[in-house]
Amino acid sequence: MHSLLTFPKGGVHPPESKAHTASLAIERMPAPDELEIILGQHIGSPCSPMVKKRDVVTEGAVIGDVAKGLGAPLHSPVAGTVKDIGLSAHPLRGKAPSITITVDHAAAPASYQPHPWQGLSAADLLAKVRDAGVVGIGGAGFPTHVKLKPPVDAKIDTLLLNGAECEPYITADHRQMLEHPGEIIEGAKIILKILGIHTCRIGIENNKPDAILAMTDAAQAGSTADDSLSVRGLQVKYPQGSEKQLIQALVGRKVPSMALPSAVGVVVQNVSTALAIYEAVALNKPLCGKVITISGGGVARPANLLVKVGTRIGDIVRRLGGVKPELAKIVMGGPMMGFAVSSLDVPVTKTTSSVLFLTAEEIDSRPHSQCIRCGWCLDACPMGLEPKEIGLYVEANRAGDTAQFGVFDCFECGSCAYVCPAKRPLVQFVRLAKMKAKR
Ligand code: SF4
Ligand code: SF4
Repeated sequence: MHSLLTFPKGGVHPPESKAHTASLAIERMPAPDELEIILGQHIGSPCSPMVKKRDVVTEGAVIGDVAKGLGAPLHSPVAGTVKDIGLSAHPLRGKAPSITITVDHAAAPASYQPHPWQGLSAADLLAKVRDAGVVGIGGAGFPTHVKLKPPVDAKIDTLLLNGAECEPYITADHRQMLEHPGEIIEGAKIILKILGIHTCRIGIENNKPDAILAMTDAAQAGSTADDSLSVRGLQVKYPQGSEKQLIQALVGRKVPSMALPSAVGVVVQNVSTALAIYEAVALNKPLCGKVITISGGGVARPANLLVKVGTRIGDIVRRLGGVKPELAKIVMGGPMMGFAVSSLDVPVTKTTSSVLFLTAEEIDSRPHSQCIRCGWCLDACPMGLEPKEIGLYVEANRAGDTAQFGVFDCFECGSCAYVCPAKRPLVQFVRLAKMKAKR
């Protein structure tokens, strides 16, 4: 066993809170009566509808696409009828354009059979990834076919698969690695072929020893004389799974300020995105289902659920027996980087990783106070930034002058706010600063 790897600077250790769901197998949730599919599910231009009201759609049919610019198509997760093209509840924007589909429960589910992909060219493989609407599942939803086409002058030599899953509570990637290790490795091999490289390293935090074993076996079975795939255990430290920190941990390369991983010769993909790539290429299956973790002390039954994209949180809660009276806050995503939602009408998108139903004991609602200049936020920041200064400048109406503190290198991990004894809203300060500061 190799020694455990990690990034060199900062990081925090929030309670893991993964025991509620880590041992629960992925459970397939039947489609509810209606799905609301948000048109803007990825970074780039939102999709335009490719259907109209009252159209009958089959499972897997394209219902939205992007004609120009960055984007990926949207598919219907079910057979049904387009009920409406309008607005749906959105956790960040309040309302967002969407397509509502009434589910035809009598239709037979689509069947996806594996077929060989090894004879396809890199360009054909890339086209399949795009056509299936694959976007980065673990992050902000960057269209995967674009990420798999790095700049021509980049000298890519290594693929990194991210199985860190460092956010507390979330166990969706953990279960995917346990239940589908072979398909994830097959997805990695497809990526290697697209990139024309032969080395893949998979990083998994050491709190998932069963996943490390399962993935190590699959990686060994998938390695050939040409392709070398291996698993490395990572220290349990947040934000181990962020791209730049993972690269430092696994290959010891530092991505320069404002640069992309391709600048240091690597491409990073989440393990669940690799699985979606396998399904897109080998099964011709579009990305329209999502494994998410439902957890927290405020939900009757925690679970790892495979849901159709477009399933409303309210339908999920009903499936799991409702919420408990102690529920204080609903968070989409993890407690460190997720966002609070105020409506059970919000639907799951391709990038939803979890929905947490948290009690008062699980959240910190103390009011914030003045900075006491303890410096803990500087020690916690994995990017070596000065969150204290950013906050003080924002409060002094000098947000425009914060580029000097590296505000654009902040990826809003929340480590600084987590350790701050004064509970200062440092991530919100950073977001304000980014709007005002000049690059
Ligand atoms: S949120 Fe930004 S400033 Fe705060 S610790 Fe993370 S990277 Fe550093
Ligand atoms: S951790 Fe909070 S109180 Fe301490 S220096 Fe940073 S902002 Fe100020």
